[in-house]
Amino acid sequence: MIPPARTLKFLGTAGARFVVSTQLRHSGGLVWTLDGTTVWVDPGPGALVRALASRPRVDPAKIDALVVTHRHLDHAGDATAIVEAMSNGGFSPRGTLLAPRDALEDEPVVFRYAQRFVARRLVLAEGSRHELAPGVFLETPLAHDHGIETYGYRLSAPGFTAGHVVDTFWMDALPRAYAGVDLLVVNTTREHGRDRKYLHLGADDAEALVGEIKPRVAVLTHLGMQLARGRAEELALAISGRTGVPTVAARDGWLLDLDELEAAATRRRVPPRRPRGDDAR
Ligand SMILES: [Zn+2]
Repeated sequence: MIPPARTLKFLGTAGARFVVSTQLRHSGGLVWTLDGTTVWVDPGPGALVRALASRPRVDPAKIDALVVTHRHLDHAGDATAIVEAMSNGGFSPRGTLLAPRDALEDEPVVFRYAQRFVARRLVLAEGSRHELAPGVFLETPLAHDHGIETYGYRLSAPGFTAGHVVDTFWMDALPRAYAGVDLLVVNTTREHGRDRKYLHLGADDAEALVGEIKPRVAVLTHLGMQLARGRAEELALAISGRTGVPTVAARDGWLLDLDELEAAATRRRVPPRRPRGDDAR
């Protein structure tokens, strides 16, 4: 079978400290493949192991770009390991590293010696737009409200745009910043947002985003302790019902076919009978 040309692999769906430290869900981040360009976003602790164990296997040596949206552990724990793997241990510099300035300089999430191993090091900033490969663009429209420099992103290839709203407190500018996307991925750490103690979105915020943006499909990920054991799936189903947008909760190991978004979302909503392989959570 010919593999789909455009996919999104969830190497991990864990959100925030406790789910990560207990590995109740994995924290490997996301891997996008768009027309031969592979982009790994937010590799937390264990990301390299999850990539090598996943089926089909994600080959770190073939990663073209590594994006770290902010310098928290659950987004950056394995970043140096990924850079070494994608650059043949630094012996053949290749690929692109993108991160906020404070994650490259103030508190380097990729150790300084390893930052030289990539062919391009790009700084994410509000309004920046980078071409990762011909026709594949990564834009960071908005500085998020998350305590440290943090950027969500829009990733586009001809005829397709995805938006990934990463960690943030609610901002009225969010819907417009991520408007017009085919696929909306929302880091939904809690059931209810708008508590400045956490600076994370809740499922209520995710619903507001989905309802305003109206993507073809929405996916909740970066799920926190409150959303364990089926709660994320329940909330996603409720969001689907109220907004009319097929919305699903991601699972560890899930490979989403971006060419068949609606069909893939429908399949995902049917609970698996028996967990197996790396989709076991
Ligand atoms: Zn964070």
